[in-house]
Amino acid sequence: MNQSPFDVAIIGAGVCGAAIARTLSAYRLRVVLLEKEADVAFGVSKANSGIIHAGFHHPATSLKAKLEIQGNLMFEKLYYELGFPFKRVGVLVVAFSEEEMKTAAHLFSQGEENGVADLELCGAERVRALEPKVNRDAVGGLYAPGGGIIEPYRFVFALVECAIANGCVLSTGFDVSAVRRQREYFILAARSGRSVAARYAVNAAGLHADAVSAMFGAEQFTIIPRKGEEYLLDRGAEAFPNHVLFPVPAKKSKGILVIPTVEGTTMVGPTAVEVEDREDVSTSASNLKAVFAHAKHLMPSVSRRDIITSFAGMRPALATGDFYIAVSKKVPRLVQVAGIQSPGLTASPAIGEYVKELLKSCGCSLTEKPHFNPMLPKITTLRDCSPEAMEQIIAHNPQYGNIICRCETVSEAQIVEAIRKGHVTLDGIKFYTRAGMGRCQGGFCTYKILKILARETGKKMTEFTKRGGESVIVKETLSAALPRTRGAPP
Ligand SMILES: Cc1cc2nc3c(=O)[nH]c(=O)nc-3n(C[C@H](O)[C@H](O)[C@H](O)COP(=O)(O)OP(=O)(O)OC[C@H]3O[C@@H](n4cnc5c(N)ncnc54)[C@H](O)[C@@H]3O)c2cc1C
Repeated sequence: MNQSPFDVAIIGAGVCGAAIARTLSAYRLRVVLLEKEADVAFGVSKANSGIIHAGFHHPATSLKAKLEIQGNLMFEKLYYELGFPFKRVGVLVVAFSEEEMKTAAHLFSQGEENGVADLELCGAERVRALEPKVNRDAVGGLYAPGGGIIEPYRFVFALVECAIANGCVLSTGFDVSAVRRQREYFILAARSGRSVAARYAVNAAGLHADAVSAMFGAEQFTIIPRKGEEYLLDRGAEAFPNHVLFPVPAKKSKGILVIPTVEGTTMVGPTAVEVEDREDVSTSASNLKAVFAHAKHLMPSVSRRDIITSFAGMRPALATGDFYIAVSKKVPRLVQVAGIQSPGLTASPAIGEYVKELLKSCGCSLTEKPHFNPMLPKITTLRDCSPEAMEQIIAHNPQYGNIICRCETVSEAQIVEAIRKGHVTLDGIKFYTRAGMGRCQGGFCTYKILKILARETGKKMTEFTKRGGESVIVKETLSAALPRTRGAPP
């Protein structure tokens, strides 16, 4: 055993594991968050639409609707405490026929039954007033002002940072591969040889929740991966809606959306296709064509010429279509958090609370910490600053004056901050700062970031990866050909 026993071990540092960890960090518990990847939020939680859903898409009988609505209402407080990018821009479902209006009316009633406030069934004129660039053929729709948008990875980073500040231990590169029992403890062993002991365990392993459940000898279920491809458009593309635009939903998904991201770009997608390979996050030309045909139908100014990148994420779905969050019936003191497909991001803060209650129900003692601090210090983002404010910030710390990522206006100081907070892969730095997320997709800044990483950590460039594992960026042979650093840092 590498450390003294924990009260709770959470397997998986996606948005669910992170929200659970932060919730538990308010209590006198020793909590460890175990993540197989090199950083947190490297699973499903990094590749989604970033929407805080409004609560009308699912019937009140489902657990996911209940937690979606509770989660949605928690975001203002979380935003105040943690400062991640969040805007309550509202969502608009657009209908193009009387038949589709019937579906919009059904969603309206379902939302009202779920207790969603301020829903509005709109005619064509109201839809155009809300969204002037929408297709003129729209006959009406459903407006939900309570929907919102966030930057999903920054949300996870903030939850984990706050949990750590309040005593939670994070262990990355910890791939739980075997579980055994020793008296009242679970012994969780990683492939690397490391192990931890904990009295309670939470399985929040996303796409691998079925495999982790099997390691415990708990319930048998199968995660059915459902792939979603998304396309990101350049900042300044004409197609930037005021609200998240939905079509009326299809049977298995909410359809292809046009999304204004919280950082001012436009995203279109996602597709929804069941696949076998959980790791296949490729995108395809045929799906691109279909996605853009649907998106253009909602907003004709959406253009393929504005694409700067594409990505895919896998919804970790169960055959029931609902979340499965419960104390295991077979293994006492294990809580299962599985089948967390959309709206998992929206529901995550409520999932944190729900799991806390489940742990309590199986004997976990919860005593509040007198000095729990829910707040994080505010992060400085240069892009949001006035020239005067920028001048002051740079006078205080000249590293803010050295712009590393020109597309997203990210400075050396922000890269250094990310590294000092433990984000030491290229993707971790990208998700923390947005360096490499703009039009050039890292073409100009990757080398500069690697140089800062080498300087700050004392390691060689060849030791850094894009996202851990084998994803080395600079090979030994290439490194020999690179110019030596001379004079001032980058
Ligand atoms: C295309 C797409 C769009 C979506 N859009 C939205 C949206 O707009 N709004 C919304 O509310 N929801 C959305 N979702 C759903 C949302 O992204 C997920 O519900 C949520 O991210 C699931 O979080 P999670 O923590 O359960 O899983 P994950 O983020 O996958 O976290 C699980 C973690 O467990 C780790 N892990 C797995 N096995 C092990 C092991 N053996 N040992 C240690 N660690 C392990 C993984 O590496 C991973 O980091 C979308 C999903 C997709 C795919």
